[in-house]
Amino acid sequence: MLLQPVARGQQIVRTTCAYCGVGCGLLATSDEHGSVTVVGDPQHPANFGRLCSKGSALGETLGLDGRLLAPEIDGRPAGWDETLDRVAGRFQEVIAAHGRDAVAFYVSGQLLTEDYYVANKLLKGFIGSRHLDTNSRLCMASSVTGHRRAFGSDTVPGVYEDLEQADLIVLVGSNLAWCHPILFQRIVAERERRPTLRVVVIDPRRTATCDIADLHLPLVAGSDVALFNGLLVHLHDVGAADRTFVNRHTSDVDQALATARATMPDVETVARFCGLASADIAAFFALFAQTEKTVTVYSQGVNQSSAGTDKVNAIINAHLLTGRIGRAGMGPFSVTGQPNAMGGREVGALANQLAAHMTYDDTASVDRVRRFWNAPHLAISGGHKAVDLFRAIEAGEIKAIWIMATNPAVSLPDAGRVARALEACDFVVVSDFVRDTDTARHADVLLPAAGWGEKDGTVTNSERRISRQRPVRPAPGLARPDWWALSEVARRMGFAESFAYRGPGDIFREHARLSAFENDGARAFNIGAVADISDSAYDALEPFHWPWRADQDAPRRRLFGDGTFVTPDGRGRFVAVTPRAPRHAATDEFPLILNTGRYRDQWHTMTRTGRAARLSTHRPEPLLAIHSHDAARYDLVDGDLARIESRWGTATLRVSVTTDQRPGTVFAPMHWTGTLSAAGRVNEMVNPQTDPHSGQPELKATPVRVSPVLARWQGLVLSRQKLALDGHAYWVAVRGADHWCYEMAGPETPHAAWEKLAALATATVSSAEWLQYRDPAAGRLRAALVAGERLQFAFYIAADATGLPSRSGPAALFDHQRLAVDQRRAILAGRSLGQGIQGPVVCACHGVDRGAIELAIASGCRTTRALGERLRAGTNCGSCLPELRALLAEQATGSHHGKSKAFA
Ligand code: SF4
Repeated sequence: MLLQPVARGQQIVRTTCAYCGVGCGLLATSDEHGSVTVVGDPQHPANFGRLCSKGSALGETLGLDGRLLAPEIDGRPAGWDETLDRVAGRFQEVIAAHGRDAVAFYVSGQLLTEDYYVANKLLKGFIGSRHLDTNSRLCMASSVTGHRRAFGSDTVPGVYEDLEQADLIVLVGSNLAWCHPILFQRIVAERERRPTLRVVVIDPRRTATCDIADLHLPLVAGSDVALFNGLLVHLHDVGAADRTFVNRHTSDVDQALATARATMPDVETVARFCGLASADIAAFFALFAQTEKTVTVYSQGVNQSSAGTDKVNAIINAHLLTGRIGRAGMGPFSVTGQPNAMGGREVGALANQLAAHMTYDDTASVDRVRRFWNAPHLAISGGHKAVDLFRAIEAGEIKAIWIMATNPAVSLPDAGRVARALEACDFVVVSDFVRDTDTARHADVLLPAAGWGEKDGTVTNSERRISRQRPVRPAPGLARPDWWALSEVARRMGFAESFAYRGPGDIFREHARLSAFENDGARAFNIGAVADISDSAYDALEPFHWPWRADQDAPRRRLFGDGTFVTPDGRGRFVAVTPRAPRHAATDEFPLILNTGRYRDQWHTMTRTGRAARLSTHRPEPLLAIHSHDAARYDLVDGDLARIESRWGTATLRVSVTTDQRPGTVFAPMHWTGTLSAAGRVNEMVNPQTDPHSGQPELKATPVRVSPVLARWQGLVLSRQKLALDGHAYWVAVRGADHWCYEMAGPETPHAAWEKLAALATATVSSAEWLQYRDPAAGRLRAALVAGERLQFAFYIAADATGLPSRSGPAALFDHQRLAVDQRRAILAGRSLGQGIQGPVVCACHGVDRGAIELAIASGCRTTRALGERLRAGTNCGSCLPELRALLAEQATGSHHGKSKAFA
């Protein structure tokens, strides 16, 4: 929907964010030069104008550098017709030779619902293969399965407002402050308004979310079922059960309680299993029992587990027993990682689902979808889930795959094996908006996809709210929407009539009609009310919750509060769950447990966030977080390099010593790829064990060992061009505004490193003027190449990191069109003039670094408000407020709260 122009050549579009499952509304303003700025949409009910650091930097990700702008076949540019003919032709050949199931699609929660719907329909309905799965399998499949077991439907009962209406919020396995920042900020704002609101954080790590915790329970990884079984017993024993609700509206409570009591009879047993203090557990149980308005928010720490589904049901059991579900301020609340994981669930884009909340479990659903789509070859049973899908490729069972908007060679566990499987696959098609990803390197065919700001369709957020994502500008080059490419392949395979969509509105209406088709209430997902909207009404569609049936005046916001569930008997089901440890435990050989997750300002494999320079200033390097006891035990020093090994793979990361980790555990971010690092692709090490019910991988518990890596030099390299650093032992890359920035280290002498980097610099920049400074005795070597009066390349080598300049100093000099004399001098000094930047950037929005904040605190700032007034830090998106509070606390107590020098 276009709003009024604000200035000549400008237009404002209401759209939604491309990242997490909060689903924030945006106002995107584009100008006649193609630049786009983004602010929060004050009218969108997910965020009411707020945006986090990632969302507010979306406009900075739209540059064309690195974009895939034309189709490619075997590495050569090709036209769409030739490429689509090739895709359709190869699929037909594979089907003729090996059968329908030899073709697979692997899709993504980054797709819009309309793309998702067409992919699902083409593969399951017309190609007739069973094997379509999505990267959302890695994000929330355990919640889907847990919901279906308890409610009979994959339905989130509550809405975001419940967070503001609750008296107790329990956050389980969720670093909400970094991964769903706007929900976190809504809680923070409510707590400031109503200080009696209590927050409990259940997470093995002390994260930024603990900033607002009244109680933090750092439980042993994977022990959540034990904790919630203990809670169930406690709730029953203290009379907190809602007997009326349980008797009238649920089933199987006795089995669930008996199992809980048999496994976790008392607090002491829970404490031993979970590695927690009995008093803390008792405090949590008492708080939960006494507080009717309780919301339990859970996320990847619950879902990404070999017991993920049981964890979800253990949480839901506690809410069913107390009748706290689907009413204002209460309920279990799964928050999804991706912007449209929910949309994928709605269209059925999981291998064990069919379409529109129908599954293969009953023949009536299969028959219904077959008739609706007029698809005689509809797959009649579920296919391989993500991890098994790539195993089937490796085994030669699947011969052709189309991967859309995702990077499985980085994001799946045992990622090296996934990459090898793709390399061996007969025919790999990759649709993406960027040219070079770890996955695209294995493609036979690359299809240029429209990206955020160019796509047109809908997404569904974690509270079941469907919002429009609207284009801000035309797609560049030959990039096209995924639904269009899918429909064109369908047409070439002989299915033109069933894929004759004129635009996303046609697809949305068909999707809505299917949701209502022969739906007598057995399927909660029903948006029949919008099944016949016009194109203009689709364009103007306001955010709305599902379900919204054709016979309802308005969408239904909360579900199950009236005790009516979607099971055959209408009762919610308790599920008896038995605690079990992660499948792979620590051993003498692999004594530490690796947990993986996200950084505040990065998203997935950085294909988009990595394009906004300011988002890489907070954490420019992936760090291995390790407790100080373990660091000492394994001879690791803060800031040095460590090799991390598991049974499945290895990585090399810089060490960050911290007391935020539980002893015996380490943490690493999952963002860096093979295109951005020498050995930072963390999921290469992660075990591929999956939950037996949901198929979701155990991304949070892999046994590893760690050891120091010899580095005789540390380096910082900045180059206007992206570099090929093959052969260097350690490097990680992030993108700056006009350059690439590389952290490097290696086992050679500093002099040998100098020789290699000097050769690289000469090969990269021709006809350049050399500036250099050498102090071999101190192990400090610095050089820069200037061509056309602009800085092209700079590198700094030192025996240890203290001899390197701050990254941001020389980076600022790449902005200058013509370097002045004093600026040239500043290059080798490793600083930009007029700046005294120290440490990492804490406030990405205003570029405020840690040094400036510490200085301001030392000179009298005592509150985040004062820091905001002095430095503007924390005054825009607010994502850095937990860190500002931590820095204020450090100053007040004189402690460093376990903070690592590697952040400094
Ligand atoms: Fe985007 Fe941030 Fe909102 Fe998530 S919380 S949708 S990343 S702006």
